[in-house]
Amino acid sequence: MTWVDMVRSLLTERARELGFISIGFVRPQRPPFFDQYMERLSQKKHGDMSWLERGREIREAPQRLLQGCKTIICLAFPYSAEKPATRDGFTLSRYSQPDLEDYHVRLKTLCGSLVDVLEEHWEGCKNRVCVDSVPLMERSVAYAAGMGFFGKNNMLIIPGYGSYFYLAEILTTAPLETGETRPMESQCGDCRQCVANCPTGALRGPYTLDASRCLSYLTIEYKGELDHESGTRMAKCFFGCDRCQEVCPFNGDEGASRAFLPSTREFLEMDESVFEAEFGRTALSRAGLRKIKSNIMAVTNAER
Ligand code: SF4
Ligand code: SF4
Repeated sequence: MTWVDMVRSLLTERARELGFISIGFVRPQRPPFFDQYMERLSQKKHGDMSWLERGREIREAPQRLLQGCKTIICLAFPYSAEKPATRDGFTLSRYSQPDLEDYHVRLKTLCGSLVDVLEEHWEGCKNRVCVDSVPLMERSVAYAAGMGFFGKNNMLIIPGYGSYFYLAEILTTAPLETGETRPMESQCGDCRQCVANCPTGALRGPYTLDASRCLSYLTIEYKGELDHESGTRMAKCFFGCDRCQEVCPFNGDEGASRAFLPSTREFLEMDESVFEAEFGRTALSRAGLRKIKSNIMAVTNAER
């Protein structure tokens, strides 16, 4: 076994112990689908997510994120298929996990343990952990690393697991990529469930997302108020949208929901200090209380 193989195997073993479901090693390179990404930007399908327009050079050449970068280590960490819900039956996207600390923080800590392994076994290596915090085309890079295939819903799907996972990366100057990675072919076949069930038409066709119409964007990033029509399309979900994932056969049954959150009425009456104390360290803080209240108004008004 070569030293590279040994370090990869130690990292893989440690990653499994930490709860990661998949790990991949890939050379930093122009990510697959970069041209499609640029095309979507030129067609203004990113709503007011102006940060997607920034860092184009980095997205195209991710090695710019770390001088001397030789490898990107991609990692997938699972989240529960159980849907978080309020006591009165409204729901949130699964990835929000509002009973846990924001996944950005949790994953950075876990990746830190892998950096320890790297530093211990590759003297002098430099490393940088990225969790959805830099202009990196995470899914494309993980796809290039051979970790999964792109579904028609634009999600990365790991066969045998599905798409309910977060992605994280460690960029390293250690040359751990051995040229064995091969992107995985799509396994969607004739299925079109995700396209057929998208409530807004954001998924205009296979692999074609108009983010400006997507409820994940509209209920979290979009700064404006949602109209009645959006409220009706949200069904009972006021934070994010999982529709194109929960109909996907690779994710199995829709799964149960767990009603442990305050009711929508309690959210509407909540003040900032209570929200900060209860949810300030969770993914809900990214949208903020004002946006959450506005979403709840849209979804509950549409129910009347
Ligand atoms: S997250 Fe919801 S709105 Fe967005 S593409 Fe998927 S199903 Fe459509
Ligand atoms: S729902 Fe069907 S078409 Fe869509 S990603 Fe899943 S398998 Fe592919």
